[in-house]
Amino acid sequence: MSGHADHADHAGHSHGPGPDRSDPGPKVAAHHRAGEGNVRVPYPIGARTVSVVARHELTPRMLRLTLGGPALDGLHTYQADDHVKIVFPDPDGTLRAPVPNDHQMLDWPRPMPTTRKYTIRRYDAAARELDLDFVLHDGGVASSWAAAATVGEEVTIAGPPGALAFPHTYDSYVFAVDATGLPAVARWLAEAPPAVSAQVVVECDDPVEHDYPLPDLPDGVCIVRLVRVGDRSALADTVAEVVAELDPLPGRSFLFAAGEATDIKPLRALRRTDALITGYWKRGVAGLVD
Ligand SMILES: Cc1cc2nc3c(=O)[nH]c(=O)nc-3n(C[C@H](O)[C@H](O)[C@H](O)COP(=O)(O)OP(=O)(O)OC[C@H]3O[C@@H](n4cnc5c(N)ncnc54)[C@H](O)[C@@H]3O)c2cc1C
Repeated sequence: MSGHADHADHAGHSHGPGPDRSDPGPKVAAHHRAGEGNVRVPYPIGARTVSVVARHELTPRMLRLTLGGPALDGLHTYQADDHVKIVFPDPDGTLRAPVPNDHQMLDWPRPMPTTRKYTIRRYDAAARELDLDFVLHDGGVASSWAAAATVGEEVTIAGPPGALAFPHTYDSYVFAVDATGLPAVARWLAEAPPAVSAQVVVECDDPVEHDYPLPDLPDGVCIVRLVRVGDRSALADTVAEVVAELDPLPGRSFLFAAGEATDIKPLRALRRTDALITGYWKRGVAGLVD
């Protein structure tokens, strides 16, 4: 199951008026306060051309680009793992950007332009800025673009399409992520209630990636840091054991998992409810659609 609403179907069509996209902020907030399980809250979807306003090397393998400009006015983002799609030009340099329609959705050109999804780590409406944190790796359109992006350069982003919101009222949370899921975990930790109880299992390719900055951790949050050996994921085999070896937490827990699709697949069998499990990328596959 996809963890995220999309802007249109994969062929790029949008279908009629669709669900009510008005005023999503209070709906997500109400679900955080008193909801049950995951609920999809569609947002009005925009396409915006913004500028790179800052570059910040978070670790040798993780780069933050701050994007900004007046086009960010009216952006909706209320859930920690909300994402935008970066829209890339065709090889000849032509940018075929999606166009907002009367249904607060986007009409995408066909064939679909190349896009990649990135989590909104931070959005500051007053400053008209947002941060995207890029894992740097070999051979990726987005990774290569980010690595070379210069301050002042323009980029087009589409979305976010909506939230798949989960409540703040579980007794505890388990996060099982790789480096690509760290921005979502960091934003969740920044926005979660202070008394929250969570176990965060993070697996990276290189120990330096564990230096990714997380907000100050409340007393109830512990982190387990794993390092992959080659392509071999300990996460796939051991996340359940890792969590089980921690002091068991009482009550109902929610599982959020995001990372390499094959690595996190076993977690889907482990937990079918009270969970949000999303393949963020897949080895050998460019532009994975989960
Ligand atoms: C909802 C959502 C939110 C996401 N948020 C983030 C985020 O905040 N930060 C982030 O870095 N990624 C995030 N991702 C993952 C990101 O979209 C993918 O990693 C994407 O494939 C990167 O695009 P690319 O153009 O760099 O590589 P692609 O062109 O897609 O892939 C080229 C090659 O690189 C490999 N590859 C792709 N990603 C990685 C990786 N992370 N490490 C090693 N090899 C890789 C592929 O397997 C392929 O062989 C998110 C994905 C989703 C679905």
